[in-house]
Amino acid sequence: MNPTPTPAALRKLRRALLAWYDEHRRELPWRRDADPYRVWVSEIMLQQTRVAAVVDHYARFLQKFPTVQTLAAARESSVLAVWSGLGYYHRARRMHQAAKLIARQRRGIFPRTAEEWRELPGIGRYTAAAIASIAFGEATAVVDGNVERVIERMFGAVEGREAAWHRAESLLDRERAGDFNQAMMELGATVCTPRAPQCPMCPLHNWCVSRGANPARPQAARKRRQLIYGLARRNGSVLLVQRPAKASLMAGMWELPALPEAQHNGAEPMAKLRHAITDTDYDVSVFTVAPAKFHSSAVTARWFAERQWERLPLTGLARKILRRLPA
Ligand code: SF4
Repeated sequence: MNPTPTPAALRKLRRALLAWYDEHRRELPWRRDADPYRVWVSEIMLQQTRVAAVVDHYARFLQKFPTVQTLAAARESSVLAVWSGLGYYHRARRMHQAAKLIARQRRGIFPRTAEEWRELPGIGRYTAAAIASIAFGEATAVVDGNVERVIERMFGAVEGREAAWHRAESLLDRERAGDFNQAMMELGATVCTPRAPQCPMCPLHNWCVSRGANPARPQAARKRRQLIYGLARRNGSVLLVQRPAKASLMAGMWELPALPEAQHNGAEPMAKLRHAITDTDYDVSVFTVAPAKFHSSAVTARWFAERQWERLPLTGLARKILRRLPA
């Protein structure tokens, strides 16, 4: 294992990484300022979600809820409607709860330290440190999957998450903590990537013991599943069902009714699409059916006109299907 660099080497390493970040960082909407509300929204959205998917939702979310007060005053269904398509809806629910606490109990004043942020719903160790360092300059390091990979490769050993936090603290530039943290994450996302690290372009090349020699961790094989939905239309409205309030996933959200395989009798689907959630790829087929098929006491079913869809907390897949419907 590579020892911690000397103080002189650490100064050079920090300078090199920050200079690289200043020149090469991606221009992302949440990097335009260090407003704590915007940093918080972006950090919650970016959890387990690709940057490209977040960019659109981030703009729409801020347009609808420009301040913590507007978010706190919103109904949960409105928050979920704007979040629709990002997945992991518990993030939106907890952020909404935290907004109410900030607006009402803290009179709109945001926490400043990572320790204070962790007292809010939905804020773990990484998110608290990211917000406190980026928005308030607190000298605290962050470790996400990207940072952990960079550190493992730099120091030449798989040391585990806790050891990576210690390493990250020892590397941190305490004057520019927020930028340093973002630089480490950016490096992992764009240069020290899982499969093909671009070592000759890496600002940490001189201090890296593996220089790309560490094999990528094996990726879990993706699963493949089929989903079948029924589409019933009446005078421009569509029949939707609500997921149970106690469902472990997407509780209370609206979607098209699932269709038992036997009910489509070998007919051709009116739409076919692919949908990916975490480690599973879904082949989705949608069949046109008569409304009478869905009479069931087990679910809440309602007709919704097209003008209502945007404001409805739809599952991401339901929104995708509805957007593809011919007029
Ligand atoms: S030199 Fe290569 S392996 Fe080492 S940190 Fe940079 S990109 Fe990653």
